[in-house]
Amino acid sequence: MSETLRMPTLQSFGSLPLARVSLDRGGDLRSTPSLIDELWGAHNARVMFIARGLSPVVNGSLLLADSATVKRPVLTVYLGRTLADDPDHGGIPAGTHLLLAVLDSVDPGILDEDAWVGLRDAALSLSGRDAGIFVQAAAIANWHGKHTHCPLCGALTEVVEGGWVRRCPGDGSTHYPRTDPAIIVAVVDNADRLLLGSAAAWPTGRFSTLAGFVEPGESLEAAVIREVAEESGIEVHSPQYLGSQPWPFPASLMLGFIATAVNTNQVPDGVEIADVRWFTRDELAAAVSTGEITLPTGASVSRALIEHWFGGPLDLVPAEGRP
Ligand SMILES: [Zn+2]
Repeated sequence: MSETLRMPTLQSFGSLPLARVSLDRGGDLRSTPSLIDELWGAHNARVMFIARGLSPVVNGSLLLADSATVKRPVLTVYLGRTLADDPDHGGIPAGTHLLLAVLDSVDPGILDEDAWVGLRDAALSLSGRDAGIFVQAAAIANWHGKHTHCPLCGALTEVVEGGWVRRCPGDGSTHYPRTDPAIIVAVVDNADRLLLGSAAAWPTGRFSTLAGFVEPGESLEAAVIREVAEESGIEVHSPQYLGSQPWPFPASLMLGFIATAVNTNQVPDGVEIADVRWFTRDELAAAVSTGEITLPTGASVSRALIEHWFGGPLDLVPAEGRP
């Protein structure tokens, strides 16, 4: 039996910082045309703001404002209902409706500019509940920002269904939010070493698991095999799915796999990937502790895959860029 098959399923994926279920998304309410009109200013609704990926944070929590006190923007999205009573936000009860106000730019009238933070920076410091809301908000706001016009006729589309659909007034076509699936894979050889790559665009010494977008008409398993071969020259078999996490920078869904290498003579593609190396656990721990290499942030699927293989946290040194 191979090393891969003896590995347990990655239980920790359910608690990854950006994979939290924070709201009942209330899909049943979206078809009500007056939904946001009714909720804006209602006593049982709060509003979150987002501007170019930034959202105001107060005392470590997302600002969830009383919408009666703020001007309604052009674009508002219905995010859903809170699932539990929330002591972090001054006692917001379960079932409170949450609206997302999508702004063109940071509004210092809502909160000082330096209190607006990005999801990457806030992911590990926010509560799981807030991180989950932020991921949902960032993803839908990103989609609206890049899909304002009909791809068929070029007309400006209308926002309908509580902000989850755009409809063309010219030809009636409807357009739904898009997510780009990307595989990310821990490649392990028969000696239980881990393969990590360093992208050409990264600082020297930064290593991560290999990853890439799934192409149209391609299965996840085929994408794992293709991407690993393209980037490293390594042939893998038996990709096993471990878990997923949205990564809305701008629209990815990272699907984590582990796969077993057939060969070990790695060859970086020299374009996207500048270096590919095999690590034993001792070698990786040593390289991290001396600062020879840095690993991805703790909010990432890559970090979770690496630590899954390693068998525990790799918190030996404060790596560059880690929260
Ligand atoms: Zn159209």
